Amino acid sequence: MENIGHWIDGAQVSGSGRTADVYNPATGEVQAKVALASASDLDRAVQAAAAAQPKWEATNPQRRARVLMKFVDLLNRDMDKLAEALSREHGKTLPDAAGDVQRGLEVVEFCIGAPHHLKGEFTDSAGPGIDMYSMRQALGVTAGITPFNFPAMIPMWMFAPAIAAGNAFILKPSERDPSVPMMLVELLEEAGLPKGILQVVNGDKEVVDAILDHPVIQSVGFVGSTPIAAYIYERASAQGKRAQCFGGAKNHMIIMPDADMEQAADALVGAGYGAAGERCMAISVAVPVGDETADRLIAALAPKVEALKVGPYSSGKDVDFGPVVTAAAKDNILGLIQSGKDAGAKAVVDGSKMSVQGYEDGFFVGPVLFDHVTKDMDIYTKEIFGPVLSCVRAADYEEALGLAMDHEYGNGTAIFTRDGDAARDFAKRVNVGMVGVNVPIPVPLAYHTFGGWKKSMFGDLNQHGPDAFKFYTRTKTVTARWPSGIKEGGEFSIPVME
Ligand code: NAD
Repeated sequence: MENIGHWIDGAQVSGSGRTADVYNPATGEVQAKVALASASDLDRAVQAAAAAQPKWEATNPQRRARVLMKFVDLLNRDMDKLAEALSREHGKTLPDAAGDVQRGLEVVEFCIGAPHHLKGEFTDSAGPGIDMYSMRQALGVTAGITPFNFPAMIPMWMFAPAIAAGNAFILKPSERDPSVPMMLVELLEEAGLPKGILQVVNGDKEVVDAILDHPVIQSVGFVGSTPIAAYIYERASAQGKRAQCFGGAKNHMIIMPDADMEQAADALVGAGYGAAGERCMAISVAVPVGDETADRLIAALAPKVEALKVGPYSSGKDVDFGPVVTAAAKDNILGLIQSGKDAGAKAVVDGSKMSVQGYEDGFFVGPVLFDHVTKDMDIYTKEIFGPVLSCVRAADYEEALGLAMDHEYGNGTAIFTRDGDAARDFAKRVNVGMVGVNVPIPVPLAYHTFGGWKKSMFGDLNQHGPDAFKFYTRTKTVTARWPSGIKEGGEFSIPVME
């Protein structure tokens, strides 16, 4: 059995004490034990980070960027190995796992532009003989806590801008799939990153609380479920830390009567069931406008959902999605499916009893498609995070828009239509952070920013894009006047522009 420790001060160190089981979700077997760090394990990492960070910050940004360039080469070299390790612990298919690495890699590429992103502003002659300039300086020791569903992408979204900006970063990945984060830090050190600048402490709530309370750590990034995001935002902020915390989702896709129904159905199948629905940008609610649209949509959708192939990643390309991450996740999803049936939703496709031959102990849930879901049902109000798509019929466009607007989550949403006016109105009015027009999963590319609204995000600055460099730096503004300007004697009232 493999033992996964921590990565502290340039080496893998074994944990001392508690561990958690890491499963292969396809077989249901425990395949590794991961160490759960204590506050003193974290403190060792913080001391190493604090010792290494000033020299890293003093390294010019172009040299820091070159380490990231080399890291991109190494990610490409080891792509298959990373994807395999990711699929083995997460359960997603190999192409999807490679996509997880790729979407992280693209943010690393964006961060190679650090010399440009970190440039300050300068005003010549802001007053007589006075120049004013601002610079962006690293925060120091920073930290991030990441979820199980993107074990490569989300850590990279955090640590790439953090270290490009001259910080040290301590990563606390999900204890469900800790191997890929450990591989990433090794690759970065192979690329030339000094030890102590990126470290991994594995663990659970105990080490998360230690991160939130550690006086040296300046900022906390979090991605995960909403109750934990709210908790982390509150506790980190109360300790004076900068925090950005991204939470859960319930993403609606509006289907207008004029939409291409085959195209909309294909989009829904991919966005609803890809990665077994374990994506914060998955579409979990379809909102056809008008009964006739709904009937046509369900008719197009049902055979596509029935035809989905579920199985282990190891069976190659012939699988659309794999198991969910744990037995507990499976139980929770099955419980919600049952609650939907009990509440009167119509299960048009019901894969809840499905099992995969040869993998009977795996955490598989087959695809479920509900029609006639209403606003009061748990399957509508709660995030299921499984392969379950709920169809809520809306009488008209305003009702459809209102559903997306009234839901407590506001991560992503989409509209499918041929009507530019409807699309424009929707994009402008909807109170959701990321909007797709005939695009079901509108995840912005690396040079734009990613973030939801409402209960999907606590804080202000988004992930990646220009916001990331703002989050991981402080602005300092200098007002400078050289000696010729001080001959007139002191000034006792507040300076104003003349
Ligand atoms: P989770 O909240 O259970 O765990 C996330 C992290 O928090 C993990 O590292 C975990 O160890 C830690 N954690 C768990 N319980 C904790 C506690 N009580 N105190 C302190 N730390 C704790 O989330 P998950 O199941 O790993 O991930 C799925 C969730 O993440 C879904 O809700 C999904 O929508 C969300 N998510 C959101 C985004 C986004 O950008 N908005 C992206 C990906 C995933």
